Amino acid sequence: VQPQRFRISELISHIVSIVSPEFEKRQIQLDLRLRENDCIYADRSHLKQIMFNLLLNGMEAIDTHGVITIESSSENSLVKVVVSDTGPGIPESIQNSIFEPFFSTKEKGTGLGLALVYQYVRENDGQIDVNSQPGQGTAFIMTFPACRNEG
Ligand code: ADP
Ligand code: MG
Repeated sequence: VQPQRFRISELISHIVSIVSPEFEKRQIQLDLRLRENDCIYADRSHLKQIMFNLLLNGMEAIDTHGVITIESSSENSLVKVVVSDTGPGIPESIQNSIFEPFFSTKEKGTGLGLALVYQYVRENDGQIDVNSQPGQGTAFIMTFPACRNEG
């Protein structure tokens, strides 16, 4: 783990530029509600992988026609990042299993996406929670250490 300071808005715009063409094809709208100056102290490449995996899952859940929202906010020494989608949601009976390696409900799923997300979040001193209502979509709520002032 090689933590550094970076703005969440800067990381997200990089990722958005990569996923945008596919999202447009599927008519999935990205709703960014980022506070420009929210600054995270974590391994930037891990954060990138976390966001990619969550966006990919959101995209697969929605398939076509929907919205993925990425929201950030800061409170005290933490930055909160929420990724939510308008997909079908996650049945309560499997919500405890989704972070387990090789757990997948997809015909060709590896079941490794969220296991990796979970591991990277923990390695960077963060936390992750899922909030999903079947029929109403899914939200992944994360917190990470905020940048601290030097000295
Ligand atoms: P995979 O995507 O290969 O199936 P993941 O670890 O990324 O593996 O996800 C595990 C399972 O969690 C998925 O198979 C799916 O059932 C569920 N899941 C993850 N993200 C979402 C989401 N945004 N909406 C609905 N279900 C989800
Ligand atoms: Mg996945």
